[in-house]
Parts: sequence; structure tokens; C-alpha cells
Amino acid sequence: MAKIVRSAFAVITALLLASPTGFAAANEQAHFVEPKLYVTKGGTAAPQVALTLDACSGQTDLRILNTLVENRIPATIFVTGRWLRRNAEALAVLKAHPDLFELENHGLNHVPAIDDQPTMFGLKTAGSPEAIRAEIQGGADAMQAAHTLKPIWYRDATARYSDDAIALIHAMGYRVAGYSLNADMGASLMAPQVEKRLSAAKDGDVIIAHINQPSRVAGEGVVKGILNLKQKGFRFVRLEDAQESEKPSQSGV
Ligand SMILES: [Zn+2]
Repeated sequence: MAKIVRSAFAVITALLLASPTGFAAANEQAHFVEPKLYVTKGGTAAPQVALTLDACSGQTDLRILNTLVENRIPATIFVTGRWLRRNAEALAVLKAHPDLFELENHGLNHVPAIDDQPTMFGLKTAGSPEAIRAEIQGGADAMQAAHTLKPIWYRDATARYSDDAIALIHAMGYRVAGYSLNADMGASLMAPQVEKRLSAAKDGDVIIAHINQPSRVAGEGVVKGILNLKQKGFRFVRLEDAQESEKPSQSGV
């Protein structure tokens, strides 16, 4: 079965090391799991990565979408019900290229699947197992209404989960979509930083970035990083097509 990263201790340790101000004290009770995910390595002759892009809410970064279509680069897109409602044109593009795009469940309203603390990264969490279930099922229902294929992967709003949530997601028949390389840190980084992080991907990485922030510079770095990887001979696989594995890791160390 899946091994899960229990990274709260490592994060607290990292914060204590990085912040002598005692900021970490407020997070001493924080506990969450942040699963890692890798795909099978392709080998030095044909390294491969899985590009996963979150469509949380907001709009569509056409710089990224157009690059993927023009370069025939497959990707797994995690969509929320909220994003689907507002991005009919982009959805049509995604659905017009089923050979490139796998659509998976990112929830109904972009709510973290956490029931034992009030916020995560500033987002109000679901707060109860019932709310977590409603968020997951609501996302699936929105996808069904949009006539996409039935999702098999779930990723919540922060890629962090309470223990209850992991169990619930599995019980609902999903696999939990972790990642191994955070390319854009929530679309918050400058373009050169994103490009550098993406370009440093290793064989077998599952990359996470965002496709819903067209006004931020991070997307420019996503485009350049993707093209750099392509030029280096990387193959892009989708989660549904790849053999993947979850490995334990220590966040922040
Ligand atoms: Zn998101």
C-alpha cells in the first residue's frame, strides 16, 4: 500500500532552523501528510516525467495551454468545479485533445482535504470528513456534468491532507495525486526561478505547476521549463499512462 510522508516534524525543524523568531511555535500542532509521487524512470536514453497542472480557479494560462498543444506535450490537468464553470473555451480545447490531456479531480471549490486544523496556506480547510467527501464528490459531479472521463486521481487544494482525508479519498476509489517536484510554488515564483526548477527535473519526477494564473509571470517560466525538458529529450507521460509509485521522503531536509 501507499506509503505516506509525515512531514510536519521536518517542516517544523526546517522552520526552527530558518527562523529564530519562533514563528514555528504557532505550527507545533500542525500535522498533515503530503504524499510524494514518482513515475517509472525511462532511463538515460529516454528520461520521462509526468507534468501535472492544477486548474484551481480563476482563468486559463494560454501561454501554457498553447505550448502544450503546439508541441504535442501530454499533461494531466487537475480541474475544480469552480474552474470548469468559468473556462468553457479552455475546457473545449482540453477535450478536443484527448490524446494529450488527462483530466482529474481537484475538488468542487478548491478546499483543502483537512479536518483537524482551520487553515492551510491561508485557505480555509474542509473541517470535517463530511465536507471533505462533499468537496471530492462535488468535483467528480462537475466533471461528469462537463462530460469528461471519470476521474481516477484526486488532488486537493494544497496537496496536503489530514490522515482521515487520505483514508476517505482511497475509500472513494481514488488514488492520491502527490508530486515530487514543485515547479512554481503555487504560481508564486518569478519566471526564471520556475524555469530553473522545471529544467532541473529528474527522470521519474512528477511535476506540479499551475495553469490557472495567466496574469502571473510564473507561467512564462513553466513554458520555458517545459520546452527545455523537451529539448533535453524528456518524454512526458500522463498519470493514467504511467507506472507510478509513492516513496517516503523528508520535506524540507
Ligand atoms: Zn489548486
